[in-house]
Amino acid sequence: MATGNINVSVENIFPLIKKFLYSDHEIFLRELISNATDATLKLKHLTSIGEASVEYGNPVIEVKIDKEKKQLRISDQGIGMTKEEVEKYINQVAFSGAEEFLEKYKDSAKDSGIIGHFGLGFYSAFMVANKVEIITKSYKDEPAAHWVCEGTTEFTLEEADKKERGTEIILHINEDDKEFLEENRIEQLLVKYNKFMPVPIKFGTKEETIELPEDAPEDAKPETKTVDKIINNTNPAWTKQPTDLEEKDYNEFYRELYPMQFEDPLFHIHLNVDYPFNLTGILYFPKMTRDMNIQKDKIQLYQNQVFVTDNVEGIVPEFLTMLRGVIDSPDIPLNVSRSYLQADGAVKKISSYITRKVADKLKTLFNNNREDFEKKWDDIKIVIEYGMLSEDKFFEKAQAFALYPTVDKKYYTFEELEEKIKDTQTDKDGNKVILYASNEDEQHSYIEAAKEKGYEVLLLDSPIVSHLIQKLEAEKEKISFARVDADHIDNLIKKEEEKISKLSEEEKEKLKTDFEKVIPKEKYNVQLESMDSNAAPLIITQPEFMRRMKE
Ligand code: ADP
Ligand code: MG
Repeated sequence: MATGNINVSVENIFPLIKKFLYSDHEIFLRELISNATDATLKLKHLTSIGEASVEYGNPVIEVKIDKEKKQLRISDQGIGMTKEEVEKYINQVAFSGAEEFLEKYKDSAKDSGIIGHFGLGFYSAFMVANKVEIITKSYKDEPAAHWVCEGTTEFTLEEADKKERGTEIILHINEDDKEFLEENRIEQLLVKYNKFMPVPIKFGTKEETIELPEDAPEDAKPETKTVDKIINNTNPAWTKQPTDLEEKDYNEFYRELYPMQFEDPLFHIHLNVDYPFNLTGILYFPKMTRDMNIQKDKIQLYQNQVFVTDNVEGIVPEFLTMLRGVIDSPDIPLNVSRSYLQADGAVKKISSYITRKVADKLKTLFNNNREDFEKKWDDIKIVIEYGMLSEDKFFEKAQAFALYPTVDKKYYTFEELEEKIKDTQTDKDGNKVILYASNEDEQHSYIEAAKEKGYEVLLLDSPIVSHLIQKLEAEKEKISFARVDADHIDNLIKKEEEKISKLSEEEKEKLKTDFEKVIPKEKYNVQLESMDSNAAPLIITQPEFMRRMKE
């Protein structure tokens, strides 16, 4: 038997990294801006603990396109690197300086928001560039360094004369990746990935109108001035404390996330947990509108304020994917397959935490202002009913706030509903029978007939209601449901007084047989009612089992 070491050399893995590390080429920009952000946050941390005796100031990250030279440049005013540090952090592929920093400053830096951790991000630059340069000057009093690499294992590293602290990365963009020299494309990427990152990102300039003074003459034309275009909001709502935010701040943030949404959300849930995992975020229940874009406006997943994806499958329980908002967690392993994600312990905990928070919020809203909750029911019922069907834990919790509206616009909880049902309202097995309508217009006469007899009729008209009914029948003792046009209702009705019909027995019998000639007898029952009520004189019903078979 032979044993040995598999020899993985840098030559072997370098082209692999370039080609396959990230399926999406566009993420190189996110990675380089993350590094620039890290470099800035590191400096902030070191100045705050007195380890770097330099002025932190107001550092900005800048992205510039030089079309002529086919270059994209990303510069920061962060910590910089000495020549030795370039050797260490850049030339050693898969050695993460970010991880090392967090390790070294463990306790004090754990909330610093440092992003990097795989030590591979930088190399994603070679997905779009055939040559990459780094010009960097450390905050330490040492000469600047200039590193150049053309995507092979060879590089040059020499002193440079950069005077200001910080790093500039110069990408010589491939012919095939020319799109990354287009202003629109870069701006689109910055908005997608970096819109909420913690260090200001400048990309070009814009014209801003100067407010006219109060006493300006009527015909005065407002002047404009040129200002830096800052891409990001460095302080997004989810990173703040709920106590520092008002309803209008949450609504404004909603619009920042979804600029094309004009309706305010119905309510929000601010997530904030740091044990046993880290997670912050804000979820919104949107107002369901016809023009709502479920495909496009989705929950967004961030890690330390860097956008990662809007595919939250596996992380957010499926029934909540109709919600909107953001989730930010450094604890979600992202470089793994979705099926692995679903099995991951931390991710499972995150998913059940989110479910619990949503249920708690709904309960609070219901308890604090039931009237308002009832008003919102039509917009939120889909999510709640779907959740009750798909998650048993949620089903249990939802008992406290799930509502069952009647055709008369009364809203009962299940408990209240059970009390409303008369003891006599039972089927032959002794189950209490709850009557419901699924379509108010079509079942109008049946509804009237049932109401005449003093029965409550629920209006259950959501698309998943037949499934929910089955679930309720399975979960609740001695309860069954029957649609108003089912034959069950007939068995329930104990005629309290003999109603007088204007038709003779003979006439009634004739009417009945006439109807039975035109409708299939095996599928429907025909039954004559008294003529003195507002209800229909003749009722055609369908056995409940027949109806369910069709669904
Ligand atoms: P990671 O960010 O996961 O540590 P990267 O491959 O993205 O790995 O970067 C490797 C290391 O190079 C960083 O950890 C950091 O030490 C150094 N580095 C990269 N970009 C910069 C920068 N703009 N300023 C200072 N150091 C940087
Ligand atoms: Mg990185």
